[in-house]
Amino acid sequence: MPQTLSGQQVVEDNSPNLVWITVHGIRFKVHKDYVKVATYIIDRWHREVEPLKNGQCWGYSYRPARQGGGRWSDHSGGFSLDLNSNGAGSMLWGASSLKATDAQLVAAGKIKTDINKMVGKDLVGWGGPKAHRGKNFPGDYGNPGSFDPMHYFIKAADASAACRLIESKLGGGIPSTPAPVTQAAAAAGKLSSIANLKFGATHADIKLMQEALKARGFDPGGVDGGYGEKTKAAVAAYQRSLGFSGADADGLIGNGSARKLGLIA
Ligand SMILES: [Zn+2]
Repeated sequence: MPQTLSGQQVVEDNSPNLVWITVHGIRFKVHKDYVKVATYIIDRWHREVEPLKNGQCWGYSYRPARQGGGRWSDHSGGFSLDLNSNGAGSMLWGASSLKATDAQLVAAGKIKTDINKMVGKDLVGWGGPKAHRGKNFPGDYGNPGSFDPMHYFIKAADASAACRLIESKLGGGIPSTPAPVTQAAAAAGKLSSIANLKFGATHADIKLMQEALKARGFDPGGVDGGYGEKTKAAVAAYQRSLGFSGADADGLIGNGSARKLGLIA
């Protein structure tokens, strides 16, 4: 089984270890052992950095690492979060275009340092800068071309053990949220038929597909049940993120991508 950048196990999209959590009305798919720590981080971001934006947040994502090297994104292990991909902490690949204010970067970095201080170990990483605009921040990313301040990750290879340790220190600091929902429960009775996912068509099943795309950070241009050009482009981008190319990334959904999206078993 391949490993993530942090040395964690890549989790298959249909794994029973993945669950859906809802924090401040936004859904995230994460490893079941990350539920409490993720909830803590998400809640603090929402209150202290910027309110969560629907369609711009996600956790688990099954894809190779952008850095290459045959490794997989930390999101593939289920112990990473992206918060407000087009907001304050958006990943814009360049210091000059980084939208976050200094205050937001400080608040975002503090979530990480607070947890690590509590635990007495460097277990949580943050994709923010180490230095920016002549100021220092507690980020794990030093390259101005790759600041990713929306990104939080567990650094340890044994991320489950790291989360258990963090949880033991957080105690009552974790807000109560709706109980996590297993993927099987989330998917039960969802799609009536994959045949309804036809380019150019309108159908309730297409809404489900659009929601699934949004949850993974691929903007279908609204959740309206219409399989138009924007939705097709989002499907194609999703397919490319899975490593497909050519006719396999044409934006027309097949069994493979529908399964990866959790729409069919
Ligand atoms: Zn990320």
